[in-house]
Amino acid sequence: MDNKLLSGKKALIIGIANESSIAYGCAKMLKSAGADIAITYLNEKAKPFVDKIATELQPSIYSRCDVTIEHDLENLFSEINQKWQGIDIVIHSIAFAPKKDLHGSIIDSSKEGFLLAMDISCHSFLRMAKLAKPLMKNGGTLFAMSFYGAVKVVENYNLMGPVKAALESCVRYMAVELGTHKIRVIAISPGPVKTRAASGIDEFDQLLERAQQKAPMHTLVDVIDVGSMVTYLASDYAKNITGDTIYIDAGYHLIG
Ligand code: NAD
Repeated sequence: MDNKLLSGKKALIIGIANESSIAYGCAKMLKSAGADIAITYLNEKAKPFVDKIATELQPSIYSRCDVTIEHDLENLFSEINQKWQGIDIVIHSIAFAPKKDLHGSIIDSSKEGFLLAMDISCHSFLRMAKLAKPLMKNGGTLFAMSFYGAVKVVENYNLMGPVKAALESCVRYMAVELGTHKIRVIAISPGPVKTRAASGIDEFDQLLERAQQKAPMHTLVDVIDVGSMVTYLASDYAKNITGDTIYIDAGYHLIG
């Protein structure tokens, strides 16, 4: 990675749980391209796992952020404003659905479970964009992580399918609204990666196997693949790309 590609850029990455997290791959690659990074942990229970990553990546800002806790996002962006007086890159790499709603039939999902999944996995991206906008005085790039289950029915993805569909739609509307501010908005759709969140999906190992067998390239994706693409898309090389969902899945979406 060119260690000057993003030098002088400031990037916030939300969603690191451990070294398997897609957000970790993003933080690592953005940092190696010269960006200053801010990373977060969910709560005190999660912190020891993220502490190790903070030691490795030396973020300029390291704070708690649980998007369901009132003012956590506001406090984080206020810290960013104080420290950096602006931001260039924001990565939303978080998702959640209550187990009983994720595992059951979609028509049995509870209203509370559905709304909580939508709030954490989708609406929080809109809230982050609202807070980032005044800090992106010279433009910027906002990223959210989606999955192929947004556009096709993927066995066992259940409730998260419509939630990711809403997220991808938000990306398109946001890209149009924010375009004149030179703020780009991009959804990234990685193929399956074995992470903590993925372990909540029934028969995830079979999903991985299927992806490897059916993808034209017969390879699985890793978090560094995702981080590398995000780094490129955050750079000026991609300055006219916005509103799209970019697949990183060895071609699986072409035939899956
Ligand atoms: P992960 O478990 O490593 O990351 C999920 C993160 O969401 C965790 O860091 C967790 O702390 C965070 N989170 C959950 N609730 C939160 C809340 N209330 N406030 C703030 N953060 C919260 O798993 P991952 O697979 O790296 O997931 C990252 C993103 O990538 C998710 O949006 C996921 O849907 C998406 N994605 C994952 C895959 C995959 O196969 N793993 C594929 C495509 C897309």
